Amino acid sequence: MTTSGAAPVPAPAPAREESAYATALAQFDAVAERLRLDSSMRAVMRQPRRELTVNFPVRMDDGSTRVFTGHRVQHSTARGPAKGGIRYHPAVNLDEVKALAMWMTWKCAVVNLPYGGAKGGVEVNPKALSEGELERLTRRYASEIGIIIGPEKDVPAPDMGTDARVMAWIMDTYSMNKGYVVPGVVTGKPIAVGGTRGRVEATGRGLLYTVQEACRTQEMALEGATVAVQGFGNVGSNAARLLAAQGAKLVAVSDVTGGIYNPNGFDWDALQRIREQGAFFNQVSGGFEHITNEELLELKVDVLLPAALENQLHSGNADRIRPKMIVEGANGPTTPEADAILFGNGVFVVPDILANAGGVIVSYFEWVQDLQSFFWEEDEVNLRLKRIMTRSFEEVQALAVSESVTMREAAYMLAIRREEEALRYRGVFP
Ligand code: NAD
Repeated sequence: MTTSGAAPVPAPAPAREESAYATALAQFDAVAERLRLDSSMRAVMRQPRRELTVNFPVRMDDGSTRVFTGHRVQHSTARGPAKGGIRYHPAVNLDEVKALAMWMTWKCAVVNLPYGGAKGGVEVNPKALSEGELERLTRRYASEIGIIIGPEKDVPAPDMGTDARVMAWIMDTYSMNKGYVVPGVVTGKPIAVGGTRGRVEATGRGLLYTVQEACRTQEMALEGATVAVQGFGNVGSNAARLLAAQGAKLVAVSDVTGGIYNPNGFDWDALQRIREQGAFFNQVSGGFEHITNEELLELKVDVLLPAALENQLHSGNADRIRPKMIVEGANGPTTPEADAILFGNGVFVVPDILANAGGVIVSYFEWVQDLQSFFWEEDEVNLRLKRIMTRSFEEVQALAVSESVTMREAAYMLAIRREEEALRYRGVFP
C-alpha cells in the first residue's frame, strides 16, 4: 500500500499483453469453432463492415491550428442500424475502435436489441482542452463522420471522455448540416434535446441488476457483500452508489491516479465529501489507505467491478485476483489468458457484453422515444431495463449450464448465433 497525496498523474498505459482487436478476434474464433460456423460466415463476422478514419483541423484558443485523428467503425448492420459510443482518450486507435465495435455487435445481440455494432473515438485528452476547443473538435469530428451516421444508419452515444453535452453538440451539428432537427442521430443527450430519463445512470443500474442476478445464482447475499470498483466515472460511480443503496459494503474505489481503501466500507455520503476534496483520489485524505489500481484488483472482496479500461486483468495478475465474482463494467477488461486463469480459480465472471449492456438498452429506449416523439417516465425506463437485463442474464446462464461453458462463452454463443441467423436470412447482396 502507498500513502500518496501528490498532484494528479497522467493516465498510465493500461497493462496490455496484446491488442484489443486481437483479444476480440480470439474470443470470436473460439466461439465460432464451438458453434461450427462455416468459414464464409466467420470471414464476414471477423471484419468490420466499414472503417472511417478522419484527420481534421481544429482552431485552438491561442490561434494555432491542431490536427486531430478520429475514427468511426461499423462492425455490423445485419440486425439493424449500427450502435456504439464515442470515446475521447489519448490512447484511442483504430485497432481499439475495431475491437469495441465488434463487442457492440455482440452486446446488442446478446440483449436482443435491433441493432448492429459500431464505435468511434478521437485521439485526444479532453481534459486538456478548453470548453470552446472541445466543442469545435466535436462539431468538426461530427461533420467528418456525418457521412456514415444517422438515425437509420449508425447511432453514436457517450463513452469514456464524452458526455451528454458532447452528444448535444453532435446532434446539433448533424441537424444543422441536414437543415432540420434529428434527435435520433445520437443517444445519451440531455433531456431538453430528446434525451431519455434514466440514461445517465443506466449502465450502472444495469450492473446493479446483473450483480443481483449473479448473487442469486451464486447463492450469495448482496447485503454486506464487499465490493471494489476500479474506475469512478459514469459507470463505476453509478454502480457503486446503487450497490451501496442495496446494502453492499463499498471497500475500495479508484480513478486514473489510484484508489482509496477502507475495509470497513465507505458510507456513500462520506465518499461524496471525500470526493469534494479534490478532482482525483490521490488528492484526498482521511481515515483510509491509498492503494494503486493494481492493488485494488487484488483485494479479497466478494464483488470486483472493473469499470475503467480494457486489459486490466491479464496473465500477469490474474492468479492474484480472487474475488467471488467479477462483473465487468468496462469493455474488455479481461484478456482471454486471464479469463482461463480466473475460471480455473473458480471466480464467477459476468462478461462485459452482458453486464454493462444497460447503457445501450436505455440508449435504445431513447432512440425509440425520439423516433416516436413520445417520452416515458423514469419508472417505465427502469422497469423495462430490469426486464431486459434479467431476461438476458437468465438466457445466458441457462446456456452456460446446458453447454457446460463459462458465462462469457455462453453470452458469445447466444450473440453470435443471433448475428448468424440475421446474416443467413438476409443473404449475400446482390
Ligand atoms: P468515464 O470517463 O466516465 O470514467 C472512467 C473512469 O476510469 C474515471 O474514473 C478514470 O479516472 C478512470 N480511469 C481512466 N484510466 C484509468 C486507468 N488507466 N486505470 C484506472 N482507472 C482509469 O468512463 P465511463 O463512461 O464510466 O466508461 C468506463 C468503461 O465502461 C469503459 O470501458 C467504457 O467503454 C465502458 N462502458 C461505458 C458505458 C457508458 O454508458 N458510459 C456503457 C458500457 C460500457
